Amino acid sequence: MMEKSRRILLFASIVLVTLAGAAAAPAAAPDSRPTVIRAGTLIDGTGSAPVKNVLIVVEKGRITAVGKNVEIPADHRLIDLSGQTVLPGFIDAHVHLVGRHIGEGEDWENSAVRDLPQEGAIRGVRNARLTLEAGFTTVRNVGADHYSDIALRNMIDEGVVPGPRMLAAGHSLGITGGHCDNNAYIPGILDPGEGQGIADGPWEIVKEVRLQVKRGADVIKFCATGGVLSEGDAVGIQQYTAEEMRALVEEAHLTGRRVAAHAHGNAGIKVAVKAGVDSIEHGSELDREAISLFRRHGTYLVPTLMAQEAVERQAKEGIITGLRAEKAIYIAPRARKSFRLAVDGGVKIALGSDAGVFAHGTQGREFVLMVENGMGPMQAIVAGTRSAADLLGLLAEIGTVETGKVADLVAVAGDPLRDISLVTHPVFVMHDGTVYRQE
Ligand SMILES: [Zn+2]
Repeated sequence: MMEKSRRILLFASIVLVTLAGAAAAPAAAPDSRPTVIRAGTLIDGTGSAPVKNVLIVVEKGRITAVGKNVEIPADHRLIDLSGQTVLPGFIDAHVHLVGRHIGEGEDWENSAVRDLPQEGAIRGVRNARLTLEAGFTTVRNVGADHYSDIALRNMIDEGVVPGPRMLAAGHSLGITGGHCDNNAYIPGILDPGEGQGIADGPWEIVKEVRLQVKRGADVIKFCATGGVLSEGDAVGIQQYTAEEMRALVEEAHLTGRRVAAHAHGNAGIKVAVKAGVDSIEHGSELDREAISLFRRHGTYLVPTLMAQEAVERQAKEGIITGLRAEKAIYIAPRARKSFRLAVDGGVKIALGSDAGVFAHGTQGREFVLMVENGMGPMQAIVAGTRSAADLLGLLAEIGTVETGKVADLVAVAGDPLRDISLVTHPVFVMHDGTVYRQE
């Protein structure tokens, strides 16, 4: 079984290397002149109908004009995308950029006790580049060890390595022995210390939130139920009491941070929504009562359909085994049904893939799965642009192609409303006004 999975992985890594060679970042030398982009079609991310033959002017990394008749700066460079469809840079609200993805390399299951933290961070450098080249110009990293995500974010911000704009959570918070903890080892192995996210009771939780913020977290992530890839807990059971969740959310919001709650099971989802979390990640077993709670509280759902698909496949291929495989097989079909219920029920949905459960840079497929499971193509595009920007609190800066916003742009070779799979291989990627991919 492992032999087989290794061969598949080797093939996957060859594909990735080839892609990387085709699009070394950045694709063009920095050009300080204004840029004029000729877009054959523009889908601006607001949900408005596509517009043909649009000019987009970019100066100093920002969009300064969009329209059919705009003033063209005298000395400019022209990018001709008149045969393509231009969209806002994609946003993935749920990634784990640092460390190995599930199944990567030999003995990946023991990576937590074998890999140096620096190895995880360096893998993160590669993963950030692959993510950007796939058209994802912003990501929210919801959980990493050793603050490697915060280090990666800082190096991207400084321009030391290429990557998407990144919001980072630091360590995920969770109960002792829950999904966010490392279980099934003898005492002393991977028992977390202070600042590593595991906290019980309101005051320990408040301290952990403050410690993540002190180290530079932009957002707080916690586990409100069990999960698939943890030992010793059922996937759906609630983790943290209502009192604990309220304390966590109150403290995070006092520090100006939003809260993302990992939650599969209905009971934990409802308690988390009532406690005021900003998004539920996965949301695999929603019922009608949960749907109306989402709507009443304005809570976002981040469905991670790719993660559900990936763990189901990994269970069947023997990449994950035992209890984790059982949980994967159990939860995946329920999650698809739950997503459909949320779409029909008018829940606010932001795209999030859980890249890290599978290889980075492939998460354009999340758009495809959203459409296959009941969303319209335009609705899916808005979920991965404007809505995700709104969830991240960045709508003033990104998420749509409008004057004044950051020049994060993607182009695909055709009409994604007819064929959503076009978004899985963008032919052009601009981030902060710099071109990272152009074919
Ligand atoms: Zn995740």
